[in-house]
Amino acid sequence: MTSVDDRHDESAEPRTGTALISPSLAGQVNRARVLQSLYDLGPLSRSDLARLTGATRVMIGTIVQPMLDSGILAEGKARASGASGGKPARPLWFSPSGPPIAAVHIMPGRIDAALIGTAGDIRATASAEYAPHTDGPEMVVDHVVSSLRRVLPTDGAPPLGVGIAVGGMVNTDTGTIVKSSLAPVLTGLDLGPAVTAQIGLPVHLDHHPRAQALGDRWFGQGRGVPSFASIYLADVLGVGLVLDGAVQRGGAGAGGEVGHTTVQLDGLPCHCGQRGCWETIATDRWLREQAARLALPAAQTMTAGALTRLAERGHPGAADLLDTYARNIALGIANLQQVLAPGLYILHGHTTGGGDTLRRAIEHHVHTRVLRHPGNTPRIVFADPQDHATLLGAAGIVLSHALRLIP
Ligand SMILES: [Zn+2]
Repeated sequence: MTSVDDRHDESAEPRTGTALISPSLAGQVNRARVLQSLYDLGPLSRSDLARLTGATRVMIGTIVQPMLDSGILAEGKARASGASGGKPARPLWFSPSGPPIAAVHIMPGRIDAALIGTAGDIRATASAEYAPHTDGPEMVVDHVVSSLRRVLPTDGAPPLGVGIAVGGMVNTDTGTIVKSSLAPVLTGLDLGPAVTAQIGLPVHLDHHPRAQALGDRWFGQGRGVPSFASIYLADVLGVGLVLDGAVQRGGAGAGGEVGHTTVQLDGLPCHCGQRGCWETIATDRWLREQAARLALPAAQTMTAGALTRLAERGHPGAADLLDTYARNIALGIANLQQVLAPGLYILHGHTTGGGDTLRRAIEHHVHTRVLRHPGNTPRIVFADPQDHATLLGAAGIVLSHALRLIP
């Protein structure tokens, strides 16, 4: 038997090991926590931040000074000090004149671009359309660049960078789109380097649902929540996972293909090439096919919202189909809950059109499928359809890189 000592080889480089927390890493984590407190709670003074984070006021000063110097944060007008007296507090908040962020969301056939302030305010938007099966990759790059040029500022602080959320698998290390089943023109496209070459700004790519999760985390219903799942449900199904405050990417961004986990052995064929993926039974497409099978009115354009209204009017078959749809959505959520128990599920996309009727039905089915745990009862919430979570999340990717919150 080999002992631990026998395996130690002085000549070999150690293959594994866990780096200790360096002062710079500790600085990154502390910066992230201070920023998250501001996003969660609004403008805060150094004293507020010290109290909320358990740090000294001097330490908070050290953390925020570089962000004040670079113009990301600004000091507001002094507030009267409290009953205890002392120096009047000056709240810190994101500077309106600070560097903005450019954000892009690429869907099959459509490109949305926006210029966003660090406080999450959308300052300009532009969009373009492309043919996802027939346009060449140069055409897509041109559309992205021209959309960006329409939103980029001509004066003031230069943007921190460009965040691009892609409906497809991405390599976050190289800025390449690895695969997009619904927009084959994107497959293999080195979009990050191509856009940087034309506009001269750092470009960061990420998978659409992960960007959406970041949008929830920084600017939406995930604020102040350490762990949650952000789910996009329309013609496709995607999940971004945040655990203990960190968006989960897997190696080079390979993780997060939750829509393609199997829920039905030998089930329906999926566009990814497998069968029985969660995506095959929980998207708009499934709903349209089932509505057609039941001969429901306007089956070809059926959405969660339209089906809910039919069910509420007592149309035969509609309530049963709605309940089956809720169960199918709940199936994947229950699996996620059993494995990682993020606890909160924020749903985006067309599904939110089903309103509270559908939300409660999904939650009910999730509760019937997970093992009860007194400390973690899963909750389903629907995002505001107009919340721009993905574009905000694309901006969040840039913010994370610019402030070195992503190692
Ligand atoms: Zn699949």
